[in-house]
Amino acid sequence: MITTFLPIPRTLMGPGPSDVHPRILTAMAKPTIGHLDPEFIRLMDEIKVMLQGVFQTQNALTIPLSAPGSAGMEASFVNLIEPGDKVIILQNGVFGGRMAENVRRFGGDLVLLETAWGRAIDPEQLRSALQAHPDTKIVAFVHAETSTGVRSDAKSLCELAHAAGCLTIVDCVTSLVGCEVDVDGWGADVVYSGTQKCLSCAPGLSPFTMSERAASLTQTRKTPVPSWFLDMNLVMGYWGAGSTRAYHHTAPVNALYGLHEALLMATEEGLSAAWARHARNHEALKAGLEAMGLRFFVPESERLAQLNLVEVPAGVDEALIRRALLGSYNLEIGAGLGPLAGKVWRIGLMGYASRPENVLLCVSALEAVLAQSNAPIHRGQAIDAVQSVYASA
Ligand SMILES: *Cc1c(COP(=O)(O)O)cnc(C)c1O
Repeated sequence: MITTFLPIPRTLMGPGPSDVHPRILTAMAKPTIGHLDPEFIRLMDEIKVMLQGVFQTQNALTIPLSAPGSAGMEASFVNLIEPGDKVIILQNGVFGGRMAENVRRFGGDLVLLETAWGRAIDPEQLRSALQAHPDTKIVAFVHAETSTGVRSDAKSLCELAHAAGCLTIVDCVTSLVGCEVDVDGWGADVVYSGTQKCLSCAPGLSPFTMSERAASLTQTRKTPVPSWFLDMNLVMGYWGAGSTRAYHHTAPVNALYGLHEALLMATEEGLSAAWARHARNHEALKAGLEAMGLRFFVPESERLAQLNLVEVPAGVDEALIRRALLGSYNLEIGAGLGPLAGKVWRIGLMGYASRPENVLLCVSALEAVLAQSNAPIHRGQAIDAVQSVYASA
């Protein structure tokens, strides 16, 4: 017999979704009102202002799309590309590969530049590609590659692209609020994110922002945007300024209550405080895991604090360890993707999940299950190592 679904509470320390803060869950349980109700429009306006804050942008076109991060990616490409446009994709993991697939599907002329998985994109690679392809219209890359735990230098990449007269698309799904995202400082044209990573909100929305330059290109393109739902010219009829909001689609009302609360919490904490918190919990996790003898996969200067790739020790069945963590401790961590499958774990410290109690749980639970499977680790030192990071000023 089917009855009410009651999920087992888990601690979510994978690549997303991350733990949703109770304040956000409570916000989402408030009564649904109409998506054109004047009170709802007030909420939409507040969301837009707070989104501009976390993206660090003045872009008027700054809204949440009513679909997950992948829709933000698709909206970026479908609005900017016209058939035959040359697009450089800088790929260093799974999500860059999806960007390339978007270019192919929308008729762009793809130039794909690949970087080894686990390394940041090299700006020199972009510099020479722009020289070899002076007719490039768009440059796109992932700021925080969730498949590899790597942060690339978005500012340098955007500056090079703009000097060559290109527009930029930057995936900030995992970076937003977890580390610095500075849309106007970078001069990025189209930037999208997701709600279920460092915003600690429920999955299903994609914060999205577009520069004046990119928005006017979308308005004056020769061919219509080949997606009706993601055509920004139509979406802005609902989300745009003023009281003439027109029906485009029914906004996910309760999901937007959640995003409003998540943005309010990010605003209350302050962006630099949030970045510092993510960095500190990362340091504590690293100290604990390294004391156990585990190794991080990414070179230190290119690591993300919010997503940690940890090498699986030789002879250890990584899936068995993840199952034990979930079964015994209700703790979820992520598996490796693509060429890294079986070789690494992906440990997320995103948003509300980036807390000392989660770090302690993860380090101690991992030590317990690794010890139980006779993995070659040092025992009894990890907790002290974590504690010494938190004890230092
Ligand atoms: C999670 C993620 C996405 C996709 O977001 P969904 O909400 O799962 O559609 C895109 N890019 C990156 C870098 C991500 O981490």
